[in-house]
Amino acid sequence: MDDTLTIIAYILAMPFLLVWGIERAVRYCCVLVYSISSAVICRGCGQEVALLGIWHCQCGFTYRGHLLRPCPVCNRVPKAARCLHCRATTLLIER
Ligand SMILES: [Zn+2]
Ligand SMILES: [Zn+2]
Repeated sequence: MDDTLTIIAYILAMPFLLVWGIERAVRYCCVLVYSISSAVICRGCGQEVALLGIWHCQCGFTYRGHLLRPCPVCNRVPKAARCLHCRATTLLIER
């Protein structure tokens, strides 16, 4: 009896688990694409936002390279890139 309920609950939850899994996979792929791109398109003005350059981490460490590289001091990865033209931020990693 308990097994039947578990199986029914699993079958009912299946579509949600599937959607959640696909959503996670798509998000993961977006981060992968961003991490090998040199620029993203700003959602505010449509201009290119460079991901390669000199970055200043919140911990104070300044480094040259790709924006999505973890900081060697605090291991933080920036979640957004700021456009230099319109100052709007584009989310790179959505939570
Ligand atoms: Zn912009
Ligand atoms: Zn840092």
